[in-house]
Amino acid sequence: MSALSQSSRKYALDFLSFVNASPTPFHAVESAKQRLLKAGFSEIRERDSWTNTVKKGGRYFLTRNGSSIIAFGVGKKWQPGNGMALLGAHTDSPALRIKPVSKKFGENGSYIQVGVETYGGGLWHTWFDRDLSIAGRAMVKGENGNIISKLIKIDAPILRIPTLAIHLDRQENFAFNKETQLFPIAGLATAALNKKDGNDNTASADASDEFSPLAAITERHHAPIVERIAKEAGVNVKDIIDFEMILYDTHQSCLGGMNDEFIYSGRLDNLMMSYCSVEGLIESLAHSTSLDEESGIRLISLFDHEEIGSQTAQGADSNLLPAVIRRLSILPCEGAAKVPEGSAYEECLIKSMLWSCDQAHAVHPNYPAKYESSHRPEMNKGPVIKINANARYATNSPGIVLTQEVAKLAEVPLQLFVVRNDSSCGSTIGPMLSAALGARTVDMGNPQLSMHSIRETGGSADVEHAVKLFRSYFEHYSALEPKILVDHIDSGTVIEFVLWVPVKLIRKWSGG
Ligand SMILES: [Zn+2]
Repeated sequence: MSALSQSSRKYALDFLSFVNASPTPFHAVESAKQRLLKAGFSEIRERDSWTNTVKKGGRYFLTRNGSSIIAFGVGKKWQPGNGMALLGAHTDSPALRIKPVSKKFGENGSYIQVGVETYGGGLWHTWFDRDLSIAGRAMVKGENGNIISKLIKIDAPILRIPTLAIHLDRQENFAFNKETQLFPIAGLATAALNKKDGNDNTASADASDEFSPLAAITERHHAPIVERIAKEAGVNVKDIIDFEMILYDTHQSCLGGMNDEFIYSGRLDNLMMSYCSVEGLIESLAHSTSLDEESGIRLISLFDHEEIGSQTAQGADSNLLPAVIRRLSILPCEGAAKVPEGSAYEECLIKSMLWSCDQAHAVHPNYPAKYESSHRPEMNKGPVIKINANARYATNSPGIVLTQEVAKLAEVPLQLFVVRNDSSCGSTIGPMLSAALGARTVDMGNPQLSMHSIRETGGSADVEHAVKLFRSYFEHYSALEPKILVDHIDSGTVIEFVLWVPVKLIRKWSGG
C-alpha cells in the first residue's frame, strides 16, 4: 500500500474531528447540524407546517429527539410525485449507559462505583482498562419554568473498569459477569469525604422544600458526578432534573499503520457512514446552481437506536422517514399549476431509492476461515455492497446495477460481500426501510475490523471513497433511475400497438 494521498488524508482527518466530537448520538447529530448550517442548510421542525417554508431549490434539516437527523435539498424542477435519492445511516453505537439509580459503593464503601447498563451488542471485554468518561444530555431548568436539553461531554478519564491481575486467576478465555464485573470505579470514598460537598447539601435542602416524586438526583447518583454534569451544563446541581449519559473512551481517534492507512477509533460503526452521508450531501449541493436541473430530492437520514433494533420513536423502524417523505411528496410547488394528487406519495416511493449505509466487515488476517472464500473485502479498496439471499441485507440486482453506474461516474471502486452459509449474519436498517417504503434498496458500507469494539480499525482512504460515491449518487440518481427498467410496460408492446392501429384503419378504409 502506497502512502495515503493528500486528498484522502484530508478526508480522513476531517472524519477524525467529527468522530472525536461525537461520543454519543446526541453529539453526532449536533456535529452533523453544525456542518449543515455552515453549508447553508436551514433548520425546520416536524411540529410546524412546511407549506410556506420548504421551497424548491432549498436546503433543510430537522432533528427528532436530538438523536436522529434528516437533511435534504429540493430540486428546482421538483414536482409532487417525483422520486428521491435517499441515504440512511445510524448515529448510535454499543455503549455502557448510566443506570437511573447509579450510586453504588464497593468493598464496604471504600470504592465509589457507578451502575451501568449495556446498550446494544458490544464487545464488552474491550471496555476493560480504558480511560473512560461520560457524555450525553441533561434536562435542566431554564428560564420561565422551561426544561431544556443540554449536551454534556466530560473531557476527563473519571471512570475505569479494571481487569483482574493474571496472578489471581489464570483463565484461558476472558470471561466475566456483565452485572458484577463490568462495573466501573469512579474513585475512592476517602478522597470524596475529604472534599467539601456543598452542592449535595443544597440539593437535599431544595428537595425538602417541596414534594418530590423521585429521590433527589444526588441521592440517585454520586454527587461528584452530578456536579461535573452541572458544571458542564453551566447550571446549579439543583437545576439538573434528569440525564441520559453513556460511557466513552477518552482516548482520541487517530490515524495508524506504517503509512497512516488505518483509522483507530470507537464508533466507526456507524459514524463513518454518518459522516460520509453528511459530506456527500453537502458536496453534491456545494454550488448555488447544484439544484437547477434537479427534478428529485436528495435526502440523508441518520437514525438513533439501530443497535437495539430501531423500534423506537426516532429509530429507522418508526414513522420518521415515511412521514418526512410523505410531507415532501405532496408539498405544493410554487408556480406549478399541478395540484398534488392523492397518489403522489406512492408515486414518489416507487421512483425513489434507498442506500442503507452501515459499516461492513473487512477480511481479518488472523481469522481467514471466518470469511466466504470469494467475498473477502479489504480496507481502502472502496465501499462494500452487502448481499444476503435471506434478505438480512436488502440489496438486489437492479440496485447493484445502479450503484455500479454511480461508482463508474465517480471512479470509486466497489466490493461485494456475502456471509458463509455456516456463519451468523448481521443486519441493518435496509430490510425494514425497504419493506416500509417499497423503494429499491442497496445495503453497503466501508470495510472495517473489530466491529463493536470500543476501539475499531477502518481504512483511511475509504472515507474519501464513500464521500465521492455518495456525492455521485445524489448528483446522478434522477438521470439514472428512469433508465433501469423494472415493472415497466414493455416498449415493444407500445410500438406494436402504434403500428397495429393505422394498419387496422387502412384496412377499414380500403374495405379490407
Ligand atoms: Zn452499524
